[in-house]
Amino acid sequence: MEIKEVIANFFGKRMATLATMHQKEKVMSPLLEKHLRVRVHVPTQLNTDTFGTFTRDVDRMGNQLEAARHKAQHALSLTGHTIAIASEGLFGPHPLVPWVGYNRELVLLIDVENQFEIIGESMTTDTNLKSLQIKNIEDAHRFCEKVGFPEHAVIVRNNNEWIKGITSKKELEQAFERLMKSADKDFSIETDMRAMFNPTRMKYIEAATQNLIDKIYSLCSKCSYPGFEVVERKKGLLCRECGLKTPLIIADVYRCKKCGHCEEKLYPKGKTFADPVNCLFCNP
Ligand SMILES: [Zn+2]
Ligand SMILES: [Zn+2]
Repeated sequence: MEIKEVIANFFGKRMATLATMHQKEKVMSPLLEKHLRVRVHVPTQLNTDTFGTFTRDVDRMGNQLEAARHKAQHALSLTGHTIAIASEGLFGPHPLVPWVGYNRELVLLIDVENQFEIIGESMTTDTNLKSLQIKNIEDAHRFCEKVGFPEHAVIVRNNNEWIKGITSKKELEQAFERLMKSADKDFSIETDMRAMFNPTRMKYIEAATQNLIDKIYSLCSKCSYPGFEVVERKKGLLCRECGLKTPLIIADVYRCKKCGHCEEKLYPKGKTFADPVNCLFCNP
């Protein structure tokens, strides 16, 4: 059987509920409908902001995956559908290079009927994540010049009040005037990271959705079940110079969600030896 047929048999023509209220369906639905042959539905009663937002007005619930799972399960219970898809973004300093902004997008699919769960992700430093303490409107304008405004929205705030989704100079000035009336003069401005206000972020939500589809399209080499994915990465690629093991990956281990079949694929990066630069013996 061809891969497309396997996938069509698995998901074909079923309704999938997409747990979003930030217009993520614009980039997610076309991919999901084309490749998984599901019909995507966005429930209108869903308020995903109760599960945590980036603007600190509601605390994030659990970690990133738990938050996505929670949204998906909530959407399932609202709609009675058996497939749910949810996405969740994470922003902060890069784990290895803390002065660089970092965005990890995660897309989760749960299929209750097949007891199937899979996660797609994308990671990038291409993000306009920024915030700044400001004193006056000129500071705000200068900030906006650096963050892709007005295509990307901003938020202005003090400790008591915030105005989100600002996408024009006029709105920015009005928002600032409103804040000036308050006793709290501790102003700051930040980028609005909600998907529909942040086209850069939207690109990586699309990439995470594509990653989810690619993982589903990977079939078990024994039983052809979808979602044959990497469960472990083995270190120990040999150094080209001295032949000793390096910390680089030598093999990816795949495991089937259905039959449990495991397979090692050697040299996932296409290199059969490590550069001596990565060797603890040659380059201590
Ligand atoms: Zn299998
Ligand atoms: Zn070496």
